[in-house]
Amino acid sequence: MSSFNFCAGPAMLPVAVMQQAQQELLNWQQQGCSVMEMSHRSASFVDMAKQAEQDLRDLLSIPNRYKVLFMHGGGRGQFSAVPLNLLQKTKHGQADYFISGAWSKSAVAEAVKFADVRVQDIRTQSDLGLRSLISPRDWQISDNAHYVHCCPNETVDGLEFSSLPDTDKPIVADLSSTILSRPIDINKYGVIYAGAQKNIGPSGLSIAIVREDLLPDSNNTIPSVLDYRLAAEHDSMYNTPPTFAWYLAGLVFKWLKQQGGVTEMATRNQIKASLLYDFIDKSDFYYNNVDINYRSWMNVPFLLSDDRLNDAFLDQAEHHGLLALKGHRMVGGMRASIYNAMPLEGVQMLISFMKEFERVNG
Ligand SMILES: *Cc1c(COP(=O)(O)O)cnc(C)c1O
Repeated sequence: MSSFNFCAGPAMLPVAVMQQAQQELLNWQQQGCSVMEMSHRSASFVDMAKQAEQDLRDLLSIPNRYKVLFMHGGGRGQFSAVPLNLLQKTKHGQADYFISGAWSKSAVAEAVKFADVRVQDIRTQSDLGLRSLISPRDWQISDNAHYVHCCPNETVDGLEFSSLPDTDKPIVADLSSTILSRPIDINKYGVIYAGAQKNIGPSGLSIAIVREDLLPDSNNTIPSVLDYRLAAEHDSMYNTPPTFAWYLAGLVFKWLKQQGGVTEMATRNQIKASLLYDFIDKSDFYYNNVDINYRSWMNVPFLLSDDRLNDAFLDQAEHHGLLALKGHRMVGGMRASIYNAMPLEGVQMLISFMKEFERVNG
């Protein structure tokens, strides 16, 4: 029986990529050892690393004036890297943070350590429990903010927004769970960052795409592993990078290119998400309480009308090879994460199972 893994992160990776990694695990590029057992300064590794960066640049049409950094520390590492780097010239300068869910809230908790943070909660909830957001076009940006931080896809909450505030301040976006799911205009951002384990590759790697003018000065007190300038000047190899994760991300980028790039991914992701949301909306047994204008394509939370059936649902789903559907403890219910690597077939299988579970228990 084939199984489908709906884990929010670390999430499933494309089967073809995993097979290639398996096949060349013990002897990579005829080197006589694994890619994870060789120097990051060796010619083969450096070539591979450069190619991975180039493929990512191609996929997202990243302009030359942006640095692409392969870093440690995951998404949360970037929660600290952003204020440390972007406010380095001002020392505890001001920044605007918009809270749309759990992750942008965590970013605030970290930023207050290093910045004078102005927080605006843009979440709304109607009397009937419908969860929504204030449109980015209506956000108030402070005159003295050095940057504006937001999280366009909230992995836990299943909320996303696609427009950005109208401002000339640098926009810093946590795209951990939505990067590469569709085309974006990089020029609209100052910094984009993402932990790899949702839509890029294995955990341990995070990617930051940083507009050159936002790099800190070279004489600074930023911890070296979080310093964007140092990373840029050393091609992300100031210290040993997460080499295996970098390699695997490179395979994912190649896979994405073969599939037709992010435009094709957008089409597929939209089809998968609509199929699931449509099914949920038509059912009286399942429901999703997010405003249709702000529903995530990547993370689809849903609830059972009778939540006493939650455990039975999860148990039986697992028996059918549908894994990791339990919702985040803060939201409850279920959550299906359907990133790039999730094939349409996985979503179809999930819907068939949900229909059958409803028929028996509804
Ligand atoms: C998972 C996630 C993070 C945290 O990533 P870590 O690598 O665990 O630090 C941050 N932001 C978003 C949007 C995420 O989905």
